[in-house]
Amino acid sequence: MEMNELNPDVLLVQPSALRVFDHEISQDPEIIKLTLGEPDFNVPDHVKQAAIASINADQSHYPYFWGIQALREAASTYYREKFGYQYSADQIVCTVGATEGLSATFKTLFQPGEGVLIPAPAYPVYKALASINHLVPIMVDTTETGCVLTPQQVNEAIAAHPDVTIKGVVITDPSNPTGVVYSKAQLSALVPVFRDHQIWVISDEIYGELTYGVKHYSLSQWLPDQTIVINGLSKSHAMTGWRIGFAFGPTGVIDQIAKTHQFQVTTPTSIVQHAAVEALTHGQNDAAVMRQVYEQRCQYLTDSLTKLGISYVEPKGAFYIFMKIPERCHQDSFTFARQLAKNYHVGLMPGAPFGDSQALRISYASSNENLHAAVDALTKELVRDGVL
Ligand code: PLP
Repeated sequence: MEMNELNPDVLLVQPSALRVFDHEISQDPEIIKLTLGEPDFNVPDHVKQAAIASINADQSHYPYFWGIQALREAASTYYREKFGYQYSADQIVCTVGATEGLSATFKTLFQPGEGVLIPAPAYPVYKALASINHLVPIMVDTTETGCVLTPQQVNEAIAAHPDVTIKGVVITDPSNPTGVVYSKAQLSALVPVFRDHQIWVISDEIYGELTYGVKHYSLSQWLPDQTIVINGLSKSHAMTGWRIGFAFGPTGVIDQIAKTHQFQVTTPTSIVQHAAVEALTHGQNDAAVMRQVYEQRCQYLTDSLTKLGISYVEPKGAFYIFMKIPERCHQDSFTFARQLAKNYHVGLMPGAPFGDSQALRISYASSNENLHAAVDALTKELVRDGVL
């Protein structure tokens, strides 16, 4: 069979460069990986028990495609109390992780040729979703504004693309890869420009529970009729492999997203949905333990990088630090990351797939011992390159 007989939409999309790089360095049995965004905590015990109870209770039938009612009600209450979301149970679809919520949302909101603003550095999945849906991804470089999108940048991006109808924007808050958290003032400043230009906001808040010393706000608070919020239990409850997430949105649009979702994957498993009800009704403090540990690790890394003279984006949330490769190293992000892996068995993510080829992303969802190894490797590499 010829390649050109395959669906061209799929041929268009590159495999995730991050996964490919992670796979490459994983061939080294000694590698210490600070690459993927994977919590190093276990699923809270009460949630595991709920899953076991669900199996024993034979809750093994097809769930309704929106998700079971108890879960949508629990999600409505939980996120309203935590972050002020204004969505009722019938405005929530339970998705297979946040990823599937993003995919159904992109497919539903936009038509081929329409533009989506993606503030960069960015989680690479957004650009891939734009490509596979024949949209125009418009990357907006935010490095000069502390990795926070500003109204001026939105206006400039619109003016620079007169032939593209810009229909959406993705806000990742807290951010992967930078750990930046938008303040209330920064979010509210964006509201008029999104409202005036009728731009759909896709607000990816998967790290909403992981902020350090600052509060998380949701853009949906200001623009409930124009925002699709994406969230889930992958990071807050260390449930990445259980694949459970949520899309929240205004009536009418969320119904269409639910339809797309139905034909995409049907639903998350019944057992996981029942366990997720437990997470959302009795697990309000589950993230607190992890938050405390992440915050200490973040402090250790920022102190260490500062001592080494390495600059980084000031992190306030998630579990990432986005650091600059010193200019004097004269290496792009893939070369530098490969050197670290080859010489010191430490894996950090190259910044290029996020939109900065002179940066690296460190994930501190890993033990203190591993973080020390990373700092040690960076120190040795800087000595080797004559920077220290
Ligand atoms: N959104 C962001 C910003 C992420 O960093 C990730 C995972 O790393 C996801 C979405 C995917 O979440 P899930 O595992 O729930 O699909």
